[in-house]
Amino acid sequence: MNELHGRVALVTGGSRGIGAAIARALADRGADVAITYVNSKDRAAEVACDIKERGRRALALEADAADPRALAAAVEETVELLGRLDILVNNAGIFPVGALSELGMDAFDRTVAVNVRGPYAAARAAAAHLGEGGRIISIGSNVAERVPFGGMALYALTKTALTGLTRGLARELGPRGITVNLVHPGPTDTDANPADRPEAAGIAAMTALGRYAGADEVASVVAFLAGPQAAYVTGASINADGGWAA
Ligand code: NDP
Repeated sequence: MNELHGRVALVTGGSRGIGAAIARALADRGADVAITYVNSKDRAAEVACDIKERGRRALALEADAADPRALAAAVEETVELLGRLDILVNNAGIFPVGALSELGMDAFDRTVAVNVRGPYAAARAAAAHLGEGGRIISIGSNVAERVPFGGMALYALTKTALTGLTRGLARELGPRGITVNLVHPGPTDTDANPADRPEAAGIAAMTALGRYAGADEVASVVAFLAGPQAAYVTGASINADGGWAA
C-alpha cells in the first residue's frame, strides 16, 4: 500500500476522531501529512508522531477552521515545509444539537464558519497549489440528506451545503485534473458521538448494519478517493454510513 508515496496531504481537524484516522490512513499509503487542530495540541502531536513512526513526514498546525487566514496560512506552511500539496481533506467540524429556540444566531454563525466557510476557504487556498491528480475531499454527514430527529437543522444545513460546494468545485477544477468529492459518514464512534452514550443504541439501530462505524472505516473510503484508483470519481457524494440512507 504505497500508492500515495510522494504525495502531501493536509487534513483539517486531524487531532482526534475521524480526522486522526484519515491522517493515519493516508500515511499508511505513503503520504506525508499535515494536520490542523484548534485546541488539542497534545493529541495533534501524538498523531504527528504516529505518522512519523510510519516513516512519513508530519506537521501539526494550529489553525481555527473558522478563520480563513489561519487556514490559508496552514496551506502555505504545508507547501513550504513539505514541498507541495496534493490532497486536501476538509474534516474539521462541530456538531451543535438543539432546537431553534436554543441555538441562536451566534451558534449559526460559528457553525457555518467552521463547517462551511472553512472548507470553502481551505479549498480556495489549496487550489492554488494542487496540480494534475489533486484531490479535495470533504467530510459531510449522514444527516445531509435525511434528518430523522429534531434539533439537527443547523448542523444538517451545513453538511448539505457541502454537496453544492463539491459539485461546483468538481466542475471548476475538473479541467485541471483535480477531483472533488464528499464522504458522508454514518454514526461513527468518536468524542463527538461516542458509541457508548445512552442514545447510541437507538442511533445504531437506524443503520442497516445495526452498529456504529469505527473512524478507520470512514478513513479507508477517504484514502481510496485520495488514491489513483479513484481518478474518475468526482463531484460525488459517497455514503460510508452503514446503510443509514438505505
Ligand atoms: P470530533 O469532535 O471527535 O473531532 C473533531 C476534530 O475537528 C478535532 O480534531 C478538532 O480539533 C477539530 N476541530 C473542531 N473544530 C475545529 C476548528 N474550529 N478548527 C480546527 N479544527 C477543529 O469529531 P468527529 O471526528 O466525530 O467528526 C469529524 C467530522 O466528521 C466532522 O466534520 C463531523 O461533522 C463529521 N461527522 C461525524 C460523525 C460522527 O458520528 N462522529 C457522523 C457524520 C459526520 P481539536 O481536537 O483541537 O478540538
